[in-house]
Amino acid sequence: MEIEVDLHTHTVASGHAYSTLSENAQEASRKGLKLLGMTDHAPSMPGAPHLYHFGNLAILPEELFGVHILPGVEANIINYEGELDIPMPYLARMKLVLVGLHVICYPGGTSEQNTQAYIKAMENPLTDMMVHPGRPEFELDLERIAFMSAQLNIPVEINNSSLSKEKSGAWGNCRRFARYMVKYKGPVILGSDAHFWDRVGDFSHALELVHEVGIEEHQVLNTSSDRVLEYLATRRRNRLVIN
Ligand SMILES: [Zn+2]
Ligand SMILES: [Zn+2]
Repeated sequence: MEIEVDLHTHTVASGHAYSTLSENAQEASRKGLKLLGMTDHAPSMPGAPHLYHFGNLAILPEELFGVHILPGVEANIINYEGELDIPMPYLARMKLVLVGLHVICYPGGTSEQNTQAYIKAMENPLTDMMVHPGRPEFELDLERIAFMSAQLNIPVEINNSSLSKEKSGAWGNCRRFARYMVKYKGPVILGSDAHFWDRVGDFSHALELVHEVGIEEHQVLNTSSDRVLEYLATRRRNRLVIN
């Protein structure tokens, strides 16, 4: 399976990541990627950038080292209603909006509350994709999330970093989630979640899981940069219709 796109990477701006956008793009180019998402953590994460960071993303070049750049955010769900920690006008201007649950930014609740929060965020027209439901920090109804991914056509991530050795507790959850994605056939994305340039475009663990559970190539959005761009463009057109 050829992967052309890494949609989930962090730069120094995140506060606990250690490379620049240029370093990440250079590595993406070296690994033959066509499209790179720059998705720094949103303001409620300690050390994350001020809103001004997200208001100035338009100054960035569209391409670096031959790689198309999608500046965006990894927004935090902050409550059981699935609200995000960036005001709507900022999200509306971004080229890529990933959304996930993070310790410190979200109070934590029952499986029902966490799942509701996650699904409400999936239903937000400004959300593009959901990240790392397989992380063990918050209990989630993974089957319902996979079902909703297919219903809403919202891609959900298999996160390579969660599956890396240091966080191996995620394997069981991620495997169950991946099997539900096979069952309901919602769109899957693979994310490196790189916090240092050498991890950009590293999907080794995620691909191992994809092959193990039998997710097919056409279900993985990252296999085509054209399909990713087409999906993001359609998502933005649909927003206009909704508004
Ligand atoms: Zn995250
Ligand atoms: Zn991340």
